[in-house]
Amino acid sequence: MTPPEQWLRVTPQGLFCAPAGVFIDPTRPVARAVITHGHADHARPGHGAVLATAETLAIMRARMGEGAGDRQQALAYGETLRLGEVALRLVPAGHVLGSAQVVLEYGGARALVSGDYKRQPDPTCASFEPVPCDVFVTEATFALPVFRHPPPAQEIGRLLRSVALFPERTHVIGCYALGKAQRLIALLRQAGWQQPIWLHGTLIPLCRLYQELGVELGELRPATVAEKSALRGAIVLAPPSAIADRWARRLEDPVVCMASGWMRVRQRAKQGGVELPLVISDHADWDDLLRTIAEVGAPEVWVTHGRDDALVHALAQRGVRGRALHLVGLGEEEEGVDAA
Ligand SMILES: [Zn+2]
Ligand SMILES: [Zn+2]
Repeated sequence: MTPPEQWLRVTPQGLFCAPAGVFIDPTRPVARAVITHGHADHARPGHGAVLATAETLAIMRARMGEGAGDRQQALAYGETLRLGEVALRLVPAGHVLGSAQVVLEYGGARALVSGDYKRQPDPTCASFEPVPCDVFVTEATFALPVFRHPPPAQEIGRLLRSVALFPERTHVIGCYALGKAQRLIALLRQAGWQQPIWLHGTLIPLCRLYQELGVELGELRPATVAEKSALRGAIVLAPPSAIADRWARRLEDPVVCMASGWMRVRQRAKQGGVELPLVISDHADWDDLLRTIAEVGAPEVWVTHGRDDALVHALAQRGVRGRALHLVGLGEEEEGVDAA
């Protein structure tokens, strides 16, 4: 077996598989990129050839237009592509619509680059698929034992109880435009919320795209402060920035909510002026990180970003060799850093 560290390397542009000639989620423009998912810290503009799922490519085109790559190639989950001596395929990561892990096989060894992922079920995307491998490359956003995400239905239940308790107030939820917003809507629908869900303008394009790609979200309406009386008793979704810059506070007697794994930390919620914190995350929590690492059975785990020290330490106790890659530029959108 050719050890993966010989053919999968950290470069200034990001993780590079030399025998295939591809970078994975490169942070600078490159000739050939594989993109795990559409979040801005993974999908950057200006690459030559871009390989990703059709959904991720559609999300990239919606977000960056021309910048989405000179040439785009869609690869379906489970389909194998040969790049030189490397066999490459994408499998679901369960993170956002189109999100994929990259499976690379070369010289009798298999590496699994997971991108961002979660194990909780998500009605808006395919579920994470564990693939046995020799090296597992993982994120570590919530890699501390304090981070345990409750079942999302439980958090949605808390939200709906608050809505029932304060029928005159507007519940406005801070959430990320890609993934979290659509998942919240789908979770609300699962919980039986039939009414229109109101959206801050910046959330509308990706919700429409999800609908075009076949994800059922029910009736969505644009929310404006001008019509705030119509929003009494309603649920409004807005980006975290709109919560921070007081857009939300101009609504009528709002209950400010925020949906993020960071809401586990009371202090974060308080600092952000969040009255109702909802612990809903699109990243694996501590238990799910360890469970996933056990399931893929890799003797070696490479940690891209996040709380790598805590994870590497926990792995050592389990006889797994951990290595912090310190990839720069990851964790800059969504929940990676100081969001909320
Ligand atoms: Zn992400
Ligand atoms: Zn990320």
